[in-house]
Amino acid sequence: MLQQTTIPTVLARYGEWMRRFPTPAALAAVDEQTALRSWEGLGYYRRVRALQATARAIVQLHGGEFPTDEVALKALPGIGEYTAAAVLSFAYNKPAPLVDANVARVLARLYNDPTPIDTSAGRRLLHERAEVLLHRSNPRAYNAALMELGQTYCTSTKPRCTECPVRRYCRATEPESLPAKKNHVEPTAVQHWDIWLLTDTGLLLEKQPEGTRHAGMYRFPQRSRSSVAALPLICSQKYAVTRYKVTRYLHRAPADFPTLPSETFVPLSLLPSLPMASPDRKLLKQLTEK
Ligand code: SF4
Repeated sequence: MLQQTTIPTVLARYGEWMRRFPTPAALAAVDEQTALRSWEGLGYYRRVRALQATARAIVQLHGGEFPTDEVALKALPGIGEYTAAAVLSFAYNKPAPLVDANVARVLARLYNDPTPIDTSAGRRLLHERAEVLLHRSNPRAYNAALMELGQTYCTSTKPRCTECPVRRYCRATEPESLPAKKNHVEPTAVQHWDIWLLTDTGLLLEKQPEGTRHAGMYRFPQRSRSSVAALPLICSQKYAVTRYKVTRYLHRAPADFPTLPSETFVPLSLLPSLPMASPDRKLLKQLTEK
């Protein structure tokens, strides 16, 4: 959950998720729609699909018991080097070096190294340094402390060097300039035009096809700008997704507006149980609770 999602958002949802799915078997047993719906609000829905695939593999290959060695962990779907190291270190207190964005920033500054961290040379150096510094007898506390150092003292814009507990080991002369990155990507602005088509049968929604980022989730049907130009505008909404700044315009469509085969009318009573991305759910709530 914490990959890409903030701690306050995860904290608000973690307990509920663990009550609903206390074991890999519990998550493996539900259908994908139920898993997606339970994940709503956390975003990046690929993670819940990978989590469910992992839960099913754990049930099939390991009798429902989470594996505790690196090779078996990495063989599971959705678990790469970072997640395997995080599980080994935080769940089992095994010595595995962890490099997330906070740790990368701390290490680049501690060593005062201008090598861009998004290059293979930069990644290799970070990993080597994380391995060298790793506390062998308490890797769990060490990794947590290093991450927290990056969140609390060694922040990206205003590092608190005078109060920093590792100041005497730090070689950074201009910490704000580190870590260096080769590819800085500016967010891209995108716009889309959606329709609100509500009839006696229900609200027109489109289920996202397999292979797309939001596969299995429902969204407002999209149209070209010109095809909705004559329709009344209900509202606009701005939100951010990954590196995109999105502006959505929602237009009210008449009952005889042409629909597409991928779109379906969903009775209002079923809407709460359907998986939807947070911006769509928010908009839906605003419009149905009016
Ligand atoms: S002294 Fe400053 S730059 Fe160095 S680790 Fe601490 S907060 Fe970061």
